[in-house]
Amino acid sequence: MTLLITGGAGFIGSAVVRLAVSRGMRVVNLDALTYAACLDNVAEAAKSPLYSFEQADICDRAALDKIFEKHKPTAVMHLAAESHVDRSIDGPGAFMETNVMGTFHLLEAARAHWTTQGKPDDFRFHHVSTDEVFGSLGATGQFTETTPYDPRSPYSASKASSDHLVRAWAETYGLPVVMTNCSNNYGPYHFPEKLVPVIILNALAGKDLPIYGDGSNVRDWLYVEDHADALLTVLDKGELNRSYNIGGENERTNLQLVETLCAILDEKRPKNEGSYADQITYVTDRPGHDARYAIDPNRIRNELGWRPSVTVEEGLERTVEWYLNNAAWYEALQNRDGVGERLGKG
Ligand code: NAD
Repeated sequence: MTLLITGGAGFIGSAVVRLAVSRGMRVVNLDALTYAACLDNVAEAAKSPLYSFEQADICDRAALDKIFEKHKPTAVMHLAAESHVDRSIDGPGAFMETNVMGTFHLLEAARAHWTTQGKPDDFRFHHVSTDEVFGSLGATGQFTETTPYDPRSPYSASKASSDHLVRAWAETYGLPVVMTNCSNNYGPYHFPEKLVPVIILNALAGKDLPIYGDGSNVRDWLYVEDHADALLTVLDKGELNRSYNIGGENERTNLQLVETLCAILDEKRPKNEGSYADQITYVTDRPGHDARYAIDPNRIRNELGWRPSVTVEEGLERTVEWYLNNAAWYEALQNRDGVGERLGKG
């Protein structure tokens, strides 16, 4: 197998690159290296002869054609995207370009390549998406694979659009696709503008720990390495033209999550006085902030036998430990445009 991974220098893509290479797969990492990318995330994997890198924008069809022609991938896993909801509120255009048009160009390049290869049955186009396409839940219920789409932010609308394109390419052209919709990820190499790293790094710097609104918004949290394992499971065993919801069955309010991170930090790097939780500050809510996401993971559990390997407490502990030991990694990213600023106030 030669697996072309788009967005492999990002948070989740790099976890897939590391895992796939460790499992002996040949990997081509295609990434435009936007502000969110960091090639250090794959520095170890890059030492392997199984790994190659191509810097390209998924909106550049000519570049995509050359990469398909050169590497002749037998599968594509598509993770490249603009991924930060707050940035999508301030500047939705880039989300439409990459997440919608970029997915269109990638589908067309993949279809041309698959056709040139004689339309092999075992070719796969695996589209990686989010649970945010399903909208916002009340206090009960879970998203299943048949929950109607109801995206409510520019980010989730752009991801929903890309999901529709992928389904259309499967129906219309017969492109062999699988799809996944996953809940919130956390773990090592998480770019320092997302909630979990913001809390850890602000806590260590003695800064405020910002909680949007009253902190009651609920998310389901999944350790990124478990997500990478789920993605390779779906790629390997998933049924054609089928989507799988991936979740950790770890629902937490944002406030609970932040309090857990503070408790872990209190133990691992105690302050001279008081708790990191004393730094919690409530800030204006995000416009259109979805109240609750929850995943029904029964399909991937029952059909493919996948389940997460760590609880959220174990995963968060590993994550805090990783940030405590990798200051050079995050310090290099903290100077990037917009990092450390409050974005997406609308
Ligand atoms: P990320 O922002 O950390 O990484 C995205 C990567 O894509 C970066 O390396 C970036 O350089 C690259 N990229 C962006 N635009 C590109 C373009 N035009 N051409 C080529 N490369 C480009 O994102 P992430 O958090 O790792 O998310 C990866 C995928 O998983 C996304 O599709 C996202 O929607 C989905 N997802 C994320 C989460 C989450 O919790 N982070 C949850 C579910 C699904």
